[in-house]
Amino acid sequence: MTAPVLALLAALAPAEGMAGAACTGLAPLHDSDVDGESGEDREARHDRARAVCEHCRVLTVCRASLDSLPPQTVGVWAGVLLTGRGHG
Ligand code: SF4
Repeated sequence: MTAPVLALLAALAPAEGMAGAACTGLAPLHDSDVDGESGEDREARHDRARAVCEHCRVLTVCRASLDSLPPQTVGVWAGVLLTGRGHG
C-alpha cells in the first residue's frame, strides 16, 4: 500500500485552490498500488485516473503543485504517474 494521493490533496485543498478536485471520492483510483491488483489492472486503473485528471477543473492548479510535492510521492497526480523518484 502506498501513500494515497487523496490524502495529499485533502491537505492541499483549502490552502491551494484545489476545491472541486475531480478525484474527490474516487479513492483509490489515483493511488500507485492497490493490494492484490494485477499489473494489467493497475495500468488500466491509472489510465482511468489520467482520464479523470484530463477533465478536472483544477488541473492547472494541481499541475502547478507538482514541484512542491515530496520526491517520494507516488500515484497519478495532474495526469502524471509519479513513481517516487522525483517529478522531473
Ligand atoms: S488533476 Fe487529477 S489529481 Fe489533480 S485534483 Fe484533478 S483529478 Fe485530482
